[in-house]
Amino acid sequence: MLTRVEEILEDILCLHSPSKQEGKVTEYIIGFLENIGAEVYLDHNQKAYGGDSPTIFARIKGDESKEGITLNAHTDVVPPNEGLKIIKEESIWRTDGTTTLGGDDKAGVATMLFLAEHYAKKDEKHPDLYFIFTAGEEQGMLGARNIQWNEVRKHMEPAKRMVILDSGGDAGKVAYQAPGCYLYDVTVRGKKAHAGIEPEKGSNAIVKAAKVLAELPFGRIDHETTSNTSMMTSDFPSNVVPDVCRFTGEVRSHNMEKLDNYLKELDSLLEKYAEDYSLETELDYPPLVQKDGGVLVDALISSYRAMGIEGQGEIIGGGSDGNFFSQEGFDVAVLSVGMEKVHTTEEYLRLDVMKQTMQALMHFIEN
Ligand SMILES: [Zn+2]
Repeated sequence: MLTRVEEILEDILCLHSPSKQEGKVTEYIIGFLENIGAEVYLDHNQKAYGGDSPTIFARIKGDESKEGITLNAHTDVVPPNEGLKIIKEESIWRTDGTTTLGGDDKAGVATMLFLAEHYAKKDEKHPDLYFIFTAGEEQGMLGARNIQWNEVRKHMEPAKRMVILDSGGDAGKVAYQAPGCYLYDVTVRGKKAHAGIEPEKGSNAIVKAAKVLAELPFGRIDHETTSNTSMMTSDFPSNVVPDVCRFTGEVRSHNMEKLDNYLKELDSLLEKYAEDYSLETELDYPPLVQKDGGVLVDALISSYRAMGIEGQGEIIGGGSDGNFFSQEGFDVAVLSVGMEKVHTTEEYLRLDVMKQTMQALMHFIEN
């Protein structure tokens, strides 16, 4: 017999929800939340990126004298996920090998819905609980990136302490820091001329770009910053002085100021060597930075310990919705809900891990 959280999980796994088409799961979640009497606010931020589903905000009222807690998970899954057949082997759920499972991140969504239902029925000894269900995470954190915070805060101010349920590995891992990343795209312009007859009339864009790249630092710049250039293009016959050269790259750091400084350095080198150029930069995602001195992480580790699980703080390497929430001022921790081999057709879910995290969260909420 399925437990309640397994029932919810099975329901939502079977609702197909690729990025930008999370409609069916979104409808299920909204219906579920309304049914248990949660307050719901929808941010129709999907219009900014062509999705079909809003970001869902919900609140279960509790004892307002206690510090509130916000939970987050995303509703989209990585393809191929259509026609999913769940194969259940005791505490492992997998697929028949032709699709992903979508445990990333429906294990997080199911855990949140279970907790919402559980605490909606209880008297208000728990703190205010907030729930944020984001869409489009797998295609560049589109939902979280585009939340219209001014509107949200008018309707519902989610608690600053945020736990994101969107990671794999053993229960007890508590991730609290991740780098941010900027992408840049540079075009250096020179002047075309015949390379043999009148080279003095030309200005070689490749040579100018090369001087910039020769002085710009690359690789591991310091303990929290790395950078790379991975594309350079300019293609002319050997007798033509090239008048255009383009290169692109990225810089990652756990420190936003270092990201900004790196881009300033790139700009001043371009100024120095290239004169005529364009520099486009794009924030791929901001860093996830710990701002509370570890209070949230420590509280979650003690909650795991109360379940007999050894908890541990962790630094992660990539971007997720948490990076954007961190930038918005939330204290963020990311927990494992048992997803494994995500983004592949070998994906499986460890239900025991999902339930351990759920138990630890209940301890965290009630203490
Ligand atoms: Zn995910």
